[in-house]
Amino acid sequence: MQLFDVAIVGGGPAGSSCAAFCAMGGLQALVIDREKFPREKVCGDCLNPSCWAVLKRLELAQRVRGLPHSKLCLVTFIAIDGHEVILELPSVADCEISVKRSLFDDLLLRRARELGASVQEETTVTGLSKNSDWKIETASKQTFHARMLIGADGRNSTIAHLCNLLPRPARERVALQAHIPLPRDFGNRIVLQFLPEGYSGQAPVNENQLNLCLVGTPPTISTLRKWAERQFVLPANQAWRTITPLTRSPVASAHENLFFIGDAARVVEPFTGEGIYYALRSGELAADAISRMLRGDDRKAVLNEFRRAYAEMYRGRLWINRLARAAVVRPQLGSFFVHAARVNPSILKLLTAKIVSPDVCHSERSEAKQNDVEESR
Ligand SMILES: Cc1cc2nc3c(=O)[nH]c(=O)nc-3n(C[C@H](O)[C@H](O)[C@H](O)COP(=O)(O)OP(=O)(O)OC[C@H]3O[C@@H](n4cnc5c(N)ncnc54)[C@H](O)[C@@H]3O)c2cc1C
Repeated sequence: MQLFDVAIVGGGPAGSSCAAFCAMGGLQALVIDREKFPREKVCGDCLNPSCWAVLKRLELAQRVRGLPHSKLCLVTFIAIDGHEVILELPSVADCEISVKRSLFDDLLLRRARELGASVQEETTVTGLSKNSDWKIETASKQTFHARMLIGADGRNSTIAHLCNLLPRPARERVALQAHIPLPRDFGNRIVLQFLPEGYSGQAPVNENQLNLCLVGTPPTISTLRKWAERQFVLPANQAWRTITPLTRSPVASAHENLFFIGDAARVVEPFTGEGIYYALRSGELAADAISRMLRGDDRKAVLNEFRRAYAEMYRGRLWINRLARAAVVRPQLGSFFVHAARVNPSILKLLTAKIVSPDVCHSERSEAKQNDVEESR
C-alpha cells in the first residue's frame, strides 16, 4: 500500500497548483480528478493579471503565453437600455488575457505531473475515512491513502460534503456557457452586459471563438438563452455547459490534516473574473503549509501563518465582490452604475483598476519580484 504525503481531490487550477508546489517541495503528491483532461469548465476564461506572479513561480508563464489566447485591452459595460461605458485595461506585458480552460487547466495538470505528482484521471472520489491517515475511496472501488488531504473539488465539493462541512447551496442563480464563433470586429475586449433577466459576459478566447456566459435565475435562464440565440445568431441546438450554485457560504480552509482551496473553500462572484487567481494562490499557500508541517515545523505556528496569508489574499477585494453581486443580482442597479459612469467614470474606473491591476498582497509582491529576477536570469 502506497502512503502519499498528500492527496488532492480535484485537478482544476487549485488542485494542480497545490500538487505542483507540493512536488516542487519534494512531497509525494497524488491528484485525483473525475474528468479526463483536457476538459472544458464553465468559466469566462479570463485570467486576472494577479495570476502571473503564481504562474511565474510555477515556471509556466511563458507556456501560458504560448497557448492560443486573446490579450484583453478594453472592458465594455452595457446597461439594460443599451448604453455603454468603455474602459481601458492596463496594456502591460502581464495583462489580462483569456484562454480556454481546457488548455489552461491541462497545462497546469501536466506541470504538476512533470514535477513528480501522480495523477489519477477519470476517478471520482465517493468516500472518505480517517484514522491516523486518510483513506480515500472512489466510484471504481479503488482506495488511496495519504497523510494530508486537500479538497480542491470545486463549488459542490464532495470532500466538504463527506466531512459534513458543505453549506446548504443556495440555488438562486445558474450559469450557462458556450464557445461560439467570434463575431466579426468583436475586438480584444470583455463585454459585461446587464439584461433584465441577469447578465452576459463575453470575451474572445482566440482568433475564432468567443466565450459566452449567461447568468440568470432558474426561471429566467431560458429567456437569456433565447436572447443569446438571437443576438449571436446561434443554432437552436447550440450546446451549453451549465453550473450552479453561483453563491454559497465559505468553508473554513484549514482543518486537522485537511485543507480546502479554490472554489471548494470560497466561491466568488464570476462577474469580477478572479476565481482562478484565488484557486492558484490558495493552492500555493496550502502546499507551503503542508510541506512545513510534514517537515516537522510547529503546527500551530504554520496554521496561523497560513490563515493570515489566506485572509490577506482576499483583503480589500471581498467588498468589490459583494458590490458586484448586488449589481448583478439586481441588473437595474448594475445598469444604474453604468449610467452614473457615463457622467463620471471615475468610480467604475477605480473598481475595474482594482480588479485587474496585479494588486497582489505585500508578501507575494516581494516573492514575485524575486521570481522575476530568477526568470530573467
Ligand atoms: C459563469 C462563470 C464564469 C467565470 N468566469 C471566470 C473568469 O473569467 N475568470 C476567473 O478567474 N474565474 C472565473 N470563474 C470562476 C472560476 O471558474 C473558478 O473560481 C475556478 O474554476 C476555481 O478553480 P478550482 O480549481 O477551485 O475548481 P474547479 O475548476 O471547479 O476544479 C474542480 C475539479 O474537481 C473535480 N472534481 C469535482 N468533484 C470530484 C470528485 N468527487 N472526485 C474527483 N474529482 C472531482 C472536477 O472534475 C474539477 O476538475 C467563473 C465561474 C463561473 C461559474
